[in-house]
Amino acid sequence: MGVTRSLLLAASQSAWLREHATRYRFVRRSVNRFMPGETLDEALVAARMLQEKGIGSVLTQLGENIKEASEAEKVAAHYAEVLARIHQAGLRAEISVKLTQLGLDLSLDLCFEHLKAIVARERRESTVWIDMESSSYVEATLGVYRRALAAFPNVGVCLQAYLFRTKNDLANLLPLRPAIRLVKGAYAEPPHVAFPKKRDVDANYFALAQELLRAKAAGQCTRAAFGTHDIPLIRCLASLVKKEGYTNSDFEVQMLYGIQRAEQERLAQEGHRSIVLVAYGTYWYPWFVRRLAERPANLWFMLRNVFAS
Ligand SMILES: Cc1cc2nc3c(=O)[nH]c(=O)nc-3n(C[C@H](O)[C@H](O)[C@H](O)COP(=O)(O)OP(=O)(O)OC[C@H]3O[C@@H](n4cnc5c(N)ncnc54)[C@H](O)[C@@H]3O)c2cc1C
Repeated sequence: MGVTRSLLLAASQSAWLREHATRYRFVRRSVNRFMPGETLDEALVAARMLQEKGIGSVLTQLGENIKEASEAEKVAAHYAEVLARIHQAGLRAEISVKLTQLGLDLSLDLCFEHLKAIVARERRESTVWIDMESSSYVEATLGVYRRALAAFPNVGVCLQAYLFRTKNDLANLLPLRPAIRLVKGAYAEPPHVAFPKKRDVDANYFALAQELLRAKAAGQCTRAAFGTHDIPLIRCLASLVKKEGYTNSDFEVQMLYGIQRAEQERLAQEGHRSIVLVAYGTYWYPWFVRRLAERPANLWFMLRNVFAS
């Protein structure tokens, strides 16, 4: 892992920096590149605009590691409202939740009950996605996911290609007909759990992606979504989809709001399932710094905003 990336990932966990950095206008301005605003209304407007371009969306309220049961309750109630607003507005949008925002640190059962209540409000044809957090949460997250999948078919989980364990996790989930969003992984992980070199992460992603596509064709998973902005990788997977004779709509790519916009539109125009994850909320600091870590060149973009102040 590069030094800049390591430093940024350490900074993403600093409460002091969160408290101080978020006060600066240039930091707030830089965040706007990755999120349409802090409110649900702004996220819904963005989802509507994406839909007009044939792009679906997944909404997520930023936040993680809540400390009080009452906070988890508020988050669950908020997502119930989000689903109601999406349905009322007739939007092609889904949601993605973080289990530590639903109380995973407090109690597995509490977290599961909140997740269950949320999924129960979703339409059967739409998926409620579960984000994957740092490696210490993978076992618990997959445990909650399995319980949710036993009760509802329309729940999906994110798997991270940088973890050594993911190949096994995928194999163990497939008999349950899961919905999977495959990503490379966004957290600082030690070398005994994750590939330290980017090229190994990329190679593992491609191998897992091929397995996912095969599983989708065999009806072993309900969704196979590729959460990446890696254009050469996306092109490679798209040509594989074509060669294997799948339809264009079998190929689903999910990206983050504000990143590779032209590619998001191109995929939609080609008839692929193009989806954008739209984040909103006031607790954006750790999430934003992870975005900087993914592409340290984003730091220059942020510094340019200092002079634009
Ligand atoms: C829809 C979605 C959901 C996600 N959910 C999770 C999750 O639940 N858990 C988790 O650990 N991670 C999650 N991630 C983040 C993911 O793990 C990666 O950190 C992130 O996607 C960057 O990796 P990449 O696949 O785009 O490939 P990379 O090889 O890192 O990047 C490929 C290219 O994409 C562009 N790019 C990538 N990131 C950025 C950026 N921040 N700013 C500007 N350009 C960029 C650059 O041009 C770069 O060269 C999610 C990502 C997406 C798209």
